[in-house]
Amino acid sequence: MNRSRAERSPRPMLSVIVCCYNEAKVLPFFHKRLMAVLKTLSIRYEVVYVNDGSRDETLALLDGYCQTPGVRCLNLSRNFGKEAAMVAGIDYAVGDALLFIDADLQDPPELIPLMVHHWLTGSDIVNMQRRSRLSDTSSKRISAHLYYKLMNFLADKFDVPADVSDFRLIGPAPLAALRGMPERTRFMKGLISWLGFNTIELPYDREPRSAGLSKWGPLALIDLGIEGVLALSRKPLRWFSLLSLMIFIATMVLIIQQMSVNTANAHHVIMGIAAFITVGIAMIGEYLGATLSEVRQRPIYLLDNLLGEAPERPEHPCPIHPREQENH
Ligand code: UDP
Ligand code: MG
Repeated sequence: MNRSRAERSPRPMLSVIVCCYNEAKVLPFFHKRLMAVLKTLSIRYEVVYVNDGSRDETLALLDGYCQTPGVRCLNLSRNFGKEAAMVAGIDYAVGDALLFIDADLQDPPELIPLMVHHWLTGSDIVNMQRRSRLSDTSSKRISAHLYYKLMNFLADKFDVPADVSDFRLIGPAPLAALRGMPERTRFMKGLISWLGFNTIELPYDREPRSAGLSKWGPLALIDLGIEGVLALSRKPLRWFSLLSLMIFIATMVLIIQQMSVNTANAHHVIMGIAAFITVGIAMIGEYLGATLSEVRQRPIYLLDNLLGEAPERPEHPCPIHPREQENH
């Protein structure tokens, strides 16, 4: 129903959201290329930079870019992580559709017109999908492969497309649905796949990072993977319950057998069961932790201030710093 808005309105609006964490080395090149591409679009646009607690010159650069009409910056109070920074962008963008793009030029801005074309001709979500992972190390390739296999095994009744980065356009209908989702834990890849809608995957070559460093170490990726499982699926809990039952029955049979031949030595069995139970408790702890962060209702991010002119006030404000309220 919302799709007709883009069709009805002669000039729909696109919000381009760029999350930045210590990107001063690459930002000037990125901004120049982005603005050059956006100027060629036939639709209206705004650029929403989200400064995710950068400690380098990123904020000073963004402040300069915000002098241009249509460019704004949400300055978060600290580094909350990319997923939270993306939520800030979703909350404050005012366009009909959103487009996420990384600041490090791994996602070529020149592909934006193609994505917009697919949106205007009927796709609700345009996902950019890496053509290959040849630029990745073999360990990253293997872990990514296993990760998507696991995700799709765990996800109920929907697919998490492999090798789809955060470089995507989200049209009005899925955007409204996303804004209506109350959960705190935001695992964007999974949530957007869960939404459904008319989705298209376009292959693209992901460039190597043009300058600066990736913020994702192996530990951060494992963390994101676990968050993804906790956010998407309760299957591990169910499997554990079934496995526990099977092991319980098998152990009983074994012990009775051993007793009947008078060689009862249950030590190894008991040790095995204890280890198994420990794994179960740890798993329950993880789910409980995930539940706790939902129940706590803490904001996903905090805004320190807002730079640049907003086209209009957002309809979905998140808690903001009092200083920001004074400014506007
Ligand atoms: N980013 C962010 N907050 C973070 C980490 C990353 O806003 O805590 C931004 C970063 O500035 C970049 C994008 O997210 O624009 C992707 O980060 P990165 O290039 O480090 O990830 P990779 O491409 O290696 O997966
Ligand atoms: Mg990158």
